[in-house]
Formats: sequence, structure tokens, C-alpha cells
Amino acid sequence: MLKASLRSHLTLWFAGLSLLTLLSVGFYVGHIATEQMKQASGNALLNTARAAASLLGEQLRERQLEVYLLSRAPHLERGDLDNPAILKSMQLRTEARAEYAWMGVTDAEGKVHQAVGGLLVGQSVQQRPWFRAGLDGEYTGDPHEAVLLAKMLPGLPNGEPLRFIDFAAPIHNAEGQVIGVLGAHAHWSWVTRMVESAAFAHKHSAPDIEALIIDHDGNVLYPQALAGQQVSTPDDELQGWTASNGFLTSTVSVPTPSSTALTWSIAVRQPLETALQPARLLFYKLLILGVFAALIFGLVAYYLALYLSRPIEQLAHSARQVQNKQTGVQFALQHPVQEIAQLGQSIEAMTQSLLAKERELQQANASLEATVAQRTAALTQANAELLSLATHDALTGVYNRRRFDEKLTEYTLLFRRTGRPFSLLLIDADHFKRINDTHGHAVGDAVLQQLAQLIQASVRTTDFVARYGGEEFAVLLPEIATPDTPEVVAEKIRAAIASADFPGIEQVTVSIGIGLADPADNSHAALLKRADQQLYQAKANGRNRVA
Ligand code: GH3
Ligand code: MG
Ligand code: MG
Repeated sequence: MLKASLRSHLTLWFAGLSLLTLLSVGFYVGHIATEQMKQASGNALLNTARAAASLLGEQLRERQLEVYLLSRAPHLERGDLDNPAILKSMQLRTEARAEYAWMGVTDAEGKVHQAVGGLLVGQSVQQRPWFRAGLDGEYTGDPHEAVLLAKMLPGLPNGEPLRFIDFAAPIHNAEGQVIGVLGAHAHWSWVTRMVESAAFAHKHSAPDIEALIIDHDGNVLYPQALAGQQVSTPDDELQGWTASNGFLTSTVSVPTPSSTALTWSIAVRQPLETALQPARLLFYKLLILGVFAALIFGLVAYYLALYLSRPIEQLAHSARQVQNKQTGVQFALQHPVQEIAQLGQSIEAMTQSLLAKERELQQANASLEATVAQRTAALTQANAELLSLATHDALTGVYNRRRFDEKLTEYTLLFRRTGRPFSLLLIDADHFKRINDTHGHAVGDAVLQQLAQLIQASVRTTDFVARYGGEEFAVLLPEIATPDTPEVVAEKIRAAIASADFPGIEQVTVSIGIGLADPADNSHAALLKRADQQLYQAKANGRNRVA
């Protein structure tokens, strides 16, 4: 797991959460704003379309009415299709209104009798749809390119072909028979300008809007660039607008004269991009605001975290110092946040108690070590004593019988290997029983101790002195060489004892038997036996002597 400081945790969480919150709010508000923008723009488009449609409808009705009224002129009813008064009326109207490109009167066969500007007079318009429809009743037609008039009228400045919409009405005589048709061509540009200007009036509230004229099949009549294309119409009549294909489109039918079959619609549309621009701007503003807010929140969180985490970091630092056995460590005990202050106090108290415990433990350890050292020394001494007891005689301090036996075996083995002979002296106190009997056992003991000292003092340190039995001592001499031959040493011992002063006793003497190691011996028992025999001999010869 990645470990980061409390500071980083708090900062990241704060900034992240605020960013998330503000982004969600931004998206939500942006969505609502988009929907409302759509609604508002859609309604504005609908109003524009309505205004354009009603203006267009009204104008178309008026033109139709004009043609109708002219067709009912009294001269015409009388069958006087060539009456100049009719031409006069038609001239007045076309001069008053720039939208008329042509106006004229035909007979029932389609021959033009008279027309404004004399255009087409004498020619037949029998094949023209407006003429055929005009025979049957009032007519307003879809736009079409100029056919017969194309060469007679000046073209449009942009080079596009002349386009007209036709109005026509039958001319009846007094008997009600159709005797001709009164027809008029209006410039299509008149219609389109009307629609354009109606849409243009709303340009400030809805930029980039586009006005379209659509025929009864849903095909675009205007503008020319989109001619023949289908435009999506709103499914919901109440709403009156639809958002599809990248456009917000509102469509309204043009209220045309009921006497004609004309069914146009005006569609006003605006790119969704433009319509939703304010909502998008709002959304971007909210986004920027969100990022700024997250930065500020993060900064605030960082300082807040710093405020909270610094004492904790200090506590951690102090705790590390304690861990590293530093002395005089200070804990931060003051902080406005109650829990942090308490934490500091608790750690301080805990540390003090731990340090006290550690000191106690160190002292206990030290005393334990001292005790162990003491006990070890005592044990070593006891061991040494035990070892000494195991090998020495308790009363006299010289080696005991057991050690003597070991030593004798060792010398025998050494002798067998090297061939260097050794000797054994057996020393027995003379009439010792008498000493005990006369002076008591304690004095006897003291005499034995003194005898041991005298023997030890009479031999070399390399010689081996042991208490062999009750009042018997044994001495092993490892070398047999002049001047210290066994006889000499034995005599030295005997003389030292005989001349020694024993407190409270006249004289103590010893008899000494000498045994020499012999290669023929089977065991050391043989040597012991020989020494013992010599001792017996010394006793027999009168005691206080060497044999
Ligand atoms: P001999 O000249 O023939 O050797 O006569 P002796 O009396 O020395 O011989 P014996 O073997 O009859 O007596 C030895 C005596 O030594 C008997 C005993 O009471 C005495 N004795 C042995 N061990 C000790 C001891 O450790 N302390 C004391 N005080 N006397 C001891
Ligand atoms: Mg004896
Ligand atoms: Mg004796």
C-alpha cells in the first residue's frame, strides 16, 4: 500500500471531492441550461416562423384577391377582353407593386389579349399550368422558372434564372360562362424577401437563423441551395420545434387562401451549435469555476492539513527520538485541537512511564549481573575446593590415597614406555597408637599434620607426597639420580622428623621402606608389595630407620 502523509491525504481528498461535486453540479446545471436554452430558442424560432408565415399568407391572400377582383371587372364581364380600362387597371397595380413581373388577360383558348408592357400579347399560353388551372377557378401556384418571359425580362443580378409564382382567376361573362383567364406572375424573390425580412427581424435574438419555404411534400423551395431537400418537422405539434440533424427547426404552415390548393410551410432553423452556445459557455464557465474552486479547496485543505498534521508529525519525530534513545526529548503539548493536545500529553506520559520502567529494568539487570558474578565466583571456588577435596587429604593437605593410586598408575605406564625408573617410599609413624593413647586423638591429628609438612619440606616440588593410610604416607620420586637417590631422600625425611620438635611430645619417629620400579613387574601392586616389605623390615630392625 502506498504510504503518503496525512497532509497529502487530506489535500487530495478535499480537492478531489470538491472537483467532483463542482463537476457534477456543472454537468447538471449545464444539462438543465441546455434544455432550457433549447426550449427558449425553439420558442423564439417558432415565433419567427409564425410571423413570417402569417405575413406571407396575408400577402398571398391579398395578391390573390387583387387578381380575383380584377377578373370581375365590369368590362370583362361584358366580354370586352381588349378594353383599355383593364390594361390601365393592370398597369396601375404592377406599377404600384414591384413584385409583379407580368399581368395579362387571355381568352378561353389561351391567347393573350392584352398585358402590361404588351408582353406576350397575341401569343398562346394554353399549355401553361396557371392558364389551365385558371379556367377552373382561382389559382396560386408553386414557384417555377420563367418559360415564355425568360427572354423578354431582364435577368436577376446574380445570374440565377427568373422564378415566378403564378396567380390566376377565371373571367366569367354575365351568363356565368368562362370566357378567359386573368393571370399574374409575381417574382419569387418577392416571396423570399418577405420571408427573409421576417426572419431577419429576429436575428438579434437568434443569430445564424435561416428561413426556409417548404412545399406540401416537405421539400425545400427556398433557399435555392437547399432546394429539393427534406426538412424534419416537429413530431410534437404543441412544442412546434424539433432538434435534429444538428439544427433546431420550427415549422409553421402558411395560412394560404382556401380557394387555392397551395400548402406551404415556413421553417425557421438555427444550428444547435449556435442555439446552445450560451449554455455551452455557461458550462465552460462552470468547469473553469470548478477547477478554480478545486484548487482553492485543495489549498485550504493543504493549510488545514498542515495545521492538523504538523503537531502529529512533531509527535512522530519526538517518538522517533525517544526510540533512538535521545535524552531531553520535548513533546508538543499545546494545540487548539483537543484530541491532538490530548494525544501529545498521553504520548508524553506514556514515554515517561516507559523510560522509568526501562531504568528499573536496567537496574534490576545490573544487580542480577552482580549476583550472577558473585554466585559464579562462589561456584568456581566451591568447584576448586571440591576438586581439591577430591584429590587431597582433608586433615594433612597432601594428596589423598585415590590421587596416589592414579599417580602410581601414571608413573608405571610412563616407566614402561620410557624405561626411566622411579621409586616409592612408604613412611609409617612409629608407635603412633601410643601417642594417641597418651595425648589424645586431637594431638595425634596435629602430629599427622606436622609429619605431612615435614615430609613435603624434605622433598623436591616435583616429588609427589600423599597420605596412604591412617598414619602412613607415600612419596613417589620420579627420578633416581645422585645426589638425591631414594635412600638419601628417605634418610633426609627420617632425620628431619626425628630431629623435629613436636609440641608436648618428646620425639616422633618414622620407619621408611623403599621400592624401586622394576621392568619385570606385572603391575604396580608388585612395587607396593616390595616397599611394604622393606617397611616391615625397617620396623623389624628397630624402627626410626630406612630399609
Ligand atoms: P608400629 O610402630 O608398629 O607402627 O606401632 P603403631 O602403634 O604405630 O601401629 P598400629 O598400626 O597398631 O597403630 C596405628 C595407630 O594409628 C592406630 C590408630 O589409632 C592411629 N591412627 C590411625 N589414623 C589416625 C588418625 O587419623 N588420627 C589419629 N589421631 N590417630 C590415628
Ligand atoms: Mg601403620
Ligand atoms: Mg605405625
